[in-house]
Amino acid sequence: LRRNPGEDEFHQAVREVLDSLGAVIAKHPDYAEGALIERICEPERQIIFRVPWVDDKGQVQINRGFRVQFNSALGPFKGGLRFHPSVLLGTVKFLGFEQVFKNALTGMPIGGGKGGSDFDPKGRSEHEIMRFCQSFMTELSRHLGEYTDVPAGDIGVGQREIGYMFGQYKRITNRYESGVLTGKGLTWGGSRVRTEATGYGAVYFVERMLGTRKQSFDGKKVIVSGAGNVAIYTIEKVSKLGGRVIACSDSHGYVVENSGSGIDLDLLKEIKEKKRGRVADYAAARGAGVTYVPGGQIWDVPADIAMPSATQNELTAHDARTLVKNGVIAVGEGANMPCTPEAVRVFMEGNVLFAPGKAANAGGVATSALEMQQNASRDSWTFEATEQRLANIMNGIHDRCAEVADVYGSPGNYVLGANVTGFIRVAEAMRALGVV
Ligand code: NDP
Repeated sequence: LRRNPGEDEFHQAVREVLDSLGAVIAKHPDYAEGALIERICEPERQIIFRVPWVDDKGQVQINRGFRVQFNSALGPFKGGLRFHPSVLLGTVKFLGFEQVFKNALTGMPIGGGKGGSDFDPKGRSEHEIMRFCQSFMTELSRHLGEYTDVPAGDIGVGQREIGYMFGQYKRITNRYESGVLTGKGLTWGGSRVRTEATGYGAVYFVERMLGTRKQSFDGKKVIVSGAGNVAIYTIEKVSKLGGRVIACSDSHGYVVENSGSGIDLDLLKEIKEKKRGRVADYAAARGAGVTYVPGGQIWDVPADIAMPSATQNELTAHDARTLVKNGVIAVGEGANMPCTPEAVRVFMEGNVLFAPGKAANAGGVATSALEMQQNASRDSWTFEATEQRLANIMNGIHDRCAEVADVYGSPGNYVLGANVTGFIRVAEAMRALGVV
């Protein structure tokens, strides 16, 4: 706490992982030697930089850029960039720390890192976004490389922003180094299924988890918070599996479908992906049959399954109690750390199946690693083949977490399973590489 003042979210994420490690240390006391745990909690490198840019009125704007290169024992640093006014060093460190274990869980050769800026893309013109991305990459480029650090998107960073950053990287380095960023467009080195991967992957994970209780998405009422990349493709896959998504949200409010059909995904995609509009615009376009609740809490809507897919700490103990009272049977974190520790405890005590983000939302980074594989071999796989790889990876993550939870005497505890599985893989690699 003294060394990392004011980094509340980072402390929360570290505490949650350390809480799971008592059982591992009891079984393997050697993991506590050589300051291994202390080293895992300390980023290898943290970069903070000024991002100056000129807005459309000719005014100079200054934002702060971050890249936390957390752990590269398993491979190059890998993790997204977030552009949101709430981004502080502690936010990026929490996300980077989670990313280390998530990437380890995928079983792929990727280390963990995260970055971003307190830049707010909302209300900015296309040219302003481009100028910001170019300035951000002008500094960040010197710290990246296909064998060093490979960023992707996150909140506020989609294919458009990745494109502007890739263009600037290419210009500065004079190299068409496809493997330096993931989340690229299909015509310039991207992978099929990357856009869909986090949402689809979270649904695959939860479907398999439901299977352990002979349940499935089929016929279930589902709520999905957020209306961004993760939320949209969660809604799409839930609907394909026979579930009905009755509510989604953004930071201004939520919509509930009153009709039997669930969210109109084509309309939502049109408004969010093409027009860059809001959930309120969706409600206005949909008209009767849908209710828009400004400023409300989506977790008040009764549902069988909840998929929090917006941002950290968006679901509190109070919300968790409401969901349990309304009969929720499963919760799958599409976002990073969306449930507070107290909310997770309420779900566990209520015997609700709970899929933690570092396992459930690992499909995005796993497909980014597949994008890197395609870039390295100058290849491009079909949608079906790539989706099948994603499904196998998610099922593998689920099964490893479930097995490890069993071995450590806590069957069905996916939080323990994910933390312990990720920790052991990183710890083994770090020990093999010596004190570096
Ligand atoms: P997007 O920017 O595409 O969408 C984010 C959504 O969450 C928007 O609807 C946004 O609403 C809402 N939101 C953001 N911040 C807040 C806030 N402070 N309060 C309430 N709502 C908020 O991001 P993604 O869908 O990519 O990311 C969502 C979550 O998933 C994040 O936690 C991210 O770290 C995680 N994640 C994403 C991956 C990916 O591949 N994209 C991979 C793994 C995890 P509004 O427009 O009103 O701000």
